[in-house]
Amino acid sequence: MITKTNLVTKNFAGGKWQELQGTGKIVYNPSNINEKVGDMYFSTPEQVLHAVSEAQVGFNTWRKQTGIERANYLYKMADELEKAKEEIANLASREMGKPISEMLGEVIRGVNLLHYYAAEGVRSNGQLVPASDQHVLQYSKRVPLGVVAIITPWNFPVAIPIWKIAPALICGNSVVWKPAENSAFTATRLMEIFQKADLPKGVLNLVIGEGRVIGNTLLEEGEINAVSFTGSTLTGTHIASLSAKRNIKFQTEMGKKNAAVILKDADLEKTIPMILSGAFRSAGQKCTATSRIIVEKEIYPDFIIALREAMSTIIVKDALDTNSYIGPVASNSQYETISEYVDLARKEAEVIAEGKLETINEGYYIRPIVVSGVGPQHKLFKEEIFGPIAVVLQAEDFYEAVELCNQSEFGLSASIFTNNMEKALLFLETAEVGMVRVNQETAGVEYQAPFGGMKWSSSHTREQGQSALDFYSQVKTCAIKYSF
Ligand code: NAD
Repeated sequence: MITKTNLVTKNFAGGKWQELQGTGKIVYNPSNINEKVGDMYFSTPEQVLHAVSEAQVGFNTWRKQTGIERANYLYKMADELEKAKEEIANLASREMGKPISEMLGEVIRGVNLLHYYAAEGVRSNGQLVPASDQHVLQYSKRVPLGVVAIITPWNFPVAIPIWKIAPALICGNSVVWKPAENSAFTATRLMEIFQKADLPKGVLNLVIGEGRVIGNTLLEEGEINAVSFTGSTLTGTHIASLSAKRNIKFQTEMGKKNAAVILKDADLEKTIPMILSGAFRSAGQKCTATSRIIVEKEIYPDFIIALREAMSTIIVKDALDTNSYIGPVASNSQYETISEYVDLARKEAEVIAEGKLETINEGYYIRPIVVSGVGPQHKLFKEEIFGPIAVVLQAEDFYEAVELCNQSEFGLSASIFTNNMEKALLFLETAEVGMVRVNQETAGVEYQAPFGGMKWSSSHTREQGQSALDFYSQVKTCAIKYSF
């Protein structure tokens, strides 16, 4: 178990830890802002560039290892993470406020991801291609990219880094990982856990700091060969343009405004708990969280009655309470941004249902709300809030519901709740999103399935599953004339 002793962030490069000093900030527990979590210090630009050069050294040994050898390291990383699952879940909960039960599930997902990608070490990584000439053996194979920069957000402090690091490593790349500031203690501890697997020096490196300072150093000056980023659309498009200028491979997973459509034949008793879970677990800070609920007009009054009843059981609590369904939001800056949208909702919309708050602590707590009375042009319907606010809109029929669902610049995930097979299949076909579900919440896509969005939600690549292997490798076509 993690103790409440003071933590510090550290830099890890070339198999060595470096204590950090100087610039930094004190971090407090978002569930109780009177409890200090630790002192966060940042890596310097020089330390970032040093980590990149160590990663180049690491790449030269790692690329020569067989898939089976690399897989053994990933299995060891999985074992070490499994042993430390409660400790790391507890730390992450204290650092960014995700309820402990959900955080534990996220760590277990991390273990599963490591197993999944370790297994890729023994799978075929190429194709035999017929040749037009006789006595020619022609084949294509995946080869690594080199040094990959991995830039992650705070909302999935364990799973997102692992769903990037594990495929990057199994494909033979070395990694420089820059986590978000709001999950830097979790990242430091995760790296300590992974090092117990004795990865060769320089294969996995960690730098800590603010994106606009060290993130820019990494991307503008570091000799990296690719970057995988998850975060806001603003940062993602900046990273995409820097990468395009340098002609390095890039992948950006960005903002969203996910919709759940409820048709008149949906079973409301089963649907509403899924809607609330999609909208409010992790305080609405999941990338796949539901933030727009589109309800077919005919059942709107019944939906509102059932929603109000269900919302009265949604209680916001300390993230470390094992019964916590929703904890606080992750940080002061999240609290301030979301609070502005709550004020806007109270002024310009109608709050139709509210959750409860049950804690004696002072923290970044926001009561979840469902609002109505705004049109599709309103900020609450259009802008990414990334907090516990969901907007409800009525639709005349299925076709208008699809139109409203697609009326967004983002396209990450969407759901439909119905028993009508024809409409379910039409929705799967017409929803302009990367991940679409029937009778399931918008959140919760499994680790073995491709993950990513359309439109402004991503750079149109995919993470997780087999798709990740496409990003972290490039294809080499080989031909051998073995007899004349
Ligand atoms: P953010 O864009 O501010 O930061 C994400 C990461 O990028 C952090 O590590 C940050 O330090 C770094 N960064 C910031 N500026 C940078 C720069 N100039 N150069 C390099 N790195 C830089 O996002 P956030 O607030 O941490 O996360 C919330 C956002 O992430 C939301 O918009 C959410 O929708 C999105 N998100 C998307 C997905 C997805 O899969 N689509 C998943 C999780 C989060």
